Amino acid sequence: MTLILAAKYVLPIVGEPFVGGAVAIDGSVISAVGELESMRKEFPDADFEDHGDAAILPGFVNCHSHLELTAMRGALDSVEDDFRAWLLKVQELRSSMSDEDIRNAATDGAREGAAAGVTCFADIGRMGFAGLNALKTVGLRGIVCQETEFSPDNRTADDDFLKLAGKYEKLREEETNLVKMGISPHATYTVSSRLFELIAEYAIINRVPLSIHAAEAAEEISLLTTGKGFFNEVYEKFDLEWNSPHCSPVEYLERLGVLSARPLLAHCIHVSESDLDRIASNGAAIAHCPKSNAKFGHGVAPFEAILDAGIAVGIGSDSVASNNVCDLLEESRNAALFARNRDNRNRTITASEALEATTLGGARAMGLDHLIGSLEPGKQADIAVVSLDHLAQQPVNDIYAALVFSSNARDVRMTMVAGREIYNRGN
Ligand SMILES: [Zn+2]
Repeated sequence: MTLILAAKYVLPIVGEPFVGGAVAIDGSVISAVGELESMRKEFPDADFEDHGDAAILPGFVNCHSHLELTAMRGALDSVEDDFRAWLLKVQELRSSMSDEDIRNAATDGAREGAAAGVTCFADIGRMGFAGLNALKTVGLRGIVCQETEFSPDNRTADDDFLKLAGKYEKLREEETNLVKMGISPHATYTVSSRLFELIAEYAIINRVPLSIHAAEAAEEISLLTTGKGFFNEVYEKFDLEWNSPHCSPVEYLERLGVLSARPLLAHCIHVSESDLDRIASNGAAIAHCPKSNAKFGHGVAPFEAILDAGIAVGIGSDSVASNNVCDLLEESRNAALFARNRDNRNRTITASEALEATTLGGARAMGLDHLIGSLEPGKQADIAVVSLDHLAQQPVNDIYAALVFSSNARDVRMTMVAGREIYNRGN
């Protein structure tokens, strides 16, 4: 049975918005997108749901999250001026939580995402099963990356790899049509060069999605380029062997063969033009997390330069421990505002570019744009409906501006994944 969703605005993202538009859905797939009148003639027997003063758009793709950390919302705000203290405090809080606590937190985070119009997550977790279970429970789509333990020493790389691959292969047995598994070598300073090489080789042969934190903090850059930085103390204290490559994080990842595995690189704040060329020529992607970056004071990623380099870039909330919400409309607003307010910017980011990054850009960055990211016949019916009836959104003179600059997660009315409603605000 065909279902027609109608609203005042329908935004396919590829192509102009329809005013008085509709989307026809057959099972899990979009069968038509266009004007309501012609759609009703084409499908006279279809079920019909009119959302009125609202916008129908592709579900939001959250390109970087840590659902396991959901219970730590606001718990780390006192140490956000010190990245090392923040990382240590996360470990401390995590060790005080049971597996069950973490699993429940992840599910709460996934529910928050669904209520915010997110239909797809690129999630990273130390306990891969918590994110996997969360997405399955709530009915979301996504790729959950099993994260490496702290493993910066080459001498343990072979063992570290076997353990990681074992965990990943076990988790793969639980994959579904909607939820797939990947691997996350956490960052250049916590993963040894040998382990990076082993993971890259394995990922290329087995087509494993990879997600890595890269070029995030100034301390990371100084450690990589000069061998000095806050992790040196830790390496020395625990007698760990770690040699600085004396180059940028992105060049380092290229040298190790990691960029050839086309990873999704989170943050990429401190990147040069040649770093962007390396990312583009290898076909790697970027998850841009403007709010998390600002909360830490890490700086502003060159969003428009990333887009202009032809790199697939999506938007990520990062964990709510460093955001403190999963709100992709707010995130798209911050992506546009920070880009406009950055020194040395090349040009102005438009509201429609910010919204595209939050939908189709994210799908491209995750390698899922053949399935999701736009409203087109044949694509999966992953849809968000955002109401436009709040005074702060009226009048709507430009639908992209209304969504990016005047709307929030709490305006989301309904969320659908593969034709199945997973959230309905109920009014
Ligand atoms: Zn992260």
